Parts: sequence; structure tokens; C-alpha cells
Amino acid sequence: APLQDSDLKNIAELGMGNGGSVMKVEHVPSGVVMAKKIVLIDAKPSVRKQILRELHIMHRCSSPFIVSFFGAYLSEPNICICMEYMDKGSFDSIYKTIGSKGRPNEAISGPIPIGIVRQLAKRVLGGLVYLKDEMEVLHRDIKPSNILLNSEGEVKLCDFGVSGELENNVAKTFVGTSVYMSPERIQGSDYSVKSDVWSLGITLIELAHGCFPFADSEVEEDTPIDLTALTPISSLPSSLPSAQRHSRRKSRGVSLQGGVGTLSILELMHHIVREPPPTLITPSVPHSLEFTEEAAQFVVYCLKKDPGERMNPRDLLEMGWMDDTGRGEEMTLRMWAGTL
Ligand code: ADP
Ligand code: MG
Repeated sequence: APLQDSDLKNIAELGMGNGGSVMKVEHVPSGVVMAKKIVLIDAKPSVRKQILRELHIMHRCSSPFIVSFFGAYLSEPNICICMEYMDKGSFDSIYKTIGSKGRPNEAISGPIPIGIVRQLAKRVLGGLVYLKDEMEVLHRDIKPSNILLNSEGEVKLCDFGVSGELENNVAKTFVGTSVYMSPERIQGSDYSVKSDVWSLGITLIELAHGCFPFADSEVEEDTPIDLTALTPISSLPSSLPSAQRHSRRKSRGVSLQGGVGTLSILELMHHIVREPPPTLITPSVPHSLEFTEEAAQFVVYCLKKDPGERMNPRDLLEMGWMDDTGRGEEMTLRMWAGTL
């Protein structure tokens, strides 16, 4: 039977993003617990139907690296998308609450162990290869909040770009999550699966450092970007006046690796396009000095600014850092998930 609101009982709210909210629900007739994403769509009925048709192809999607899909339906004025519930949540909330045990009201961010980041990278790449080869889609929104964990130790991707119409209608003038965007995408050039690889590289640094690489703790990862303001990026002055810099609200600002100062999101976009990419090992994050050269190299290949030089997911899977052999000392994802 098709999914419908009357069969779903709300259990808890899991989170809120740009496009809507996500609820933990129980499908009462079957007893299956699901995550229900509610997306407000401001579009005519024909477009809504088109979105549902596009989402339908997710029924074909079956991979250990992608959350399973139970179905989608219209619940005016929303579209509800029901997917596998991942009981340990997303990696952004995981790293932002590590270390806060016993102090539940105080979220203290902490780094994810590098061995766990390594295993996560492998699964995300597996997911990207699957999406490209089997589903013929790019993910388009790789970031810690779209990488989920369960207590089995499984790591899976959610929120990938199966529906162009859905993206068009959620994101009218604003596009979320641009801080993970590759330089070519910021500049409006053609992009490919390598753009997802860039976003993975930024994500790996963020998780391993316990903070966004272009930022101190103040960053709002989902600050929407007005693309119309970004279009003439090449024509913007190469350095913005410092008065403008200091007038920015702190919460909208981000600090660069190495502490260059606070930047607005627009300035950050400039920085990503113009400056060298961030690195896994950096003096500003003392514990990163312990990471291996193998790990650092892997991230270098994810963060080549020229997509022609950047590696694709398949080649990255062949790199030394992705080889599990001889890593007996590394905690398994399942054991680690049990500590959360
Ligand atoms: P964003 O990804 O930008 O944070 P979303 O609306 O996509 O916004 O998701 C909001 C939050 O809901 C996520 O950050 C995540 O913690 C949680 N979430 C999303 N999908 C699931 C799921 N399938 N299982 C468990 N938690 C989920
Ligand atoms: Mg999401």
C-alpha cells in the first residue's frame, strides 16, 4: 500500500535543514521506524507530480552505502519523503556533540578519530560510485549532515540529487550548503562527480579536525547563498574593503585555516576560488600533525582546484589510504558507533 500520513505516527523531530524538517516516525501498519523528510514545495500541481515521478526512481536504489527509500507522497503543501532511519544520526551532529557527554546542554565539538574518517571516506566513495554507475546521478550535496551512521556501524548517504525539479523548487533563489561547493561549481562551470569529490575532501577535513576548515566555531554551514550575487564572481574586486569585512555579523563570518580573519560567505566563496585548498595536516590544528602522509595525500587529491587534476571516486578507492589491510589497531565503525 502507498505511504500516507494517516499511517505514520510521529516519534521525534530529528532535525531541520534549509528545505524542511525531518521526523522520526513509525509506520503503524508495519511497525517500521522511518525518517520522514517534509519539504515545502511552492509549485503547481504538474510540477509536484513531476517531482514525485523523479523521486520514484529511488525505489531502484539499493546499495549498502545509500539510505533505503520507502516512498514519497504529497501532503499539501508539502512533499514527504520516507527513508531508512539511521539511529546514530548524521556526522555533523555526531562530531558537534562528541565530548559533551554529561553536559547535554553544551555541545562541544570534537574531532572524529582519523581511522573512522578513513572508513567513512571509503563508504562515501562507494556510494558515489554506485550513484554514478547504477543511478546515473551526482550526489550534489555531500556534507557531514548528509552522511548518516547507525549502530550496526553502517555509513550511508542521503539527500542526493535524483530530482532536478525538487532542487529547482526548494532552492528558488537560494542554494544551501555552498560552503562545500567546489571552485568550478562556485564559478558556474560544468561540473561532474569530481565536484562531489571536492565536497568529500572538505568534509573529511572537517570531521578529522572537529571544525570546518575555513572556520572557527562560528560558521553557519547552511547559510544560504544568493547565486545571483555570485554570478559575476570573476568581476568582483580581488580584495574587499576592510570596513566591509568588520561590519559583518560575527555569526555569518568564518575564519580561515591559519586564522587570517573573519570572512563573509561571499568572501569565503572568493577564497575557495582563488586561494590554495585547505589541507588535512595544518599547524593550526595541533592533533592533525599526527596524521599520516598517506591520509594527507588522499585529501590533496580530493581537493585539487582544477577538476582535471582531481581524482574520481574509483581511482581514490585504489589509493593506499583506502586499503584496509594492516590496520588491525583501527577501531571498527560498529564498535565506535557503540561508544556514541
Ligand atoms: P541538513 O542535511 O541540511 O542538516 P535535512 O533537512 O536534510 O538538513 O536534515 C536535517 C537533519 O535530520 C540532519 O542533519 C540529520 O541529522 C537528520 N536526518 C536526516 N535524515 C535522517 C535519517 N534518515 N535518519 C536519521 N536522521 C536523519
Ligand atoms: Mg540533509
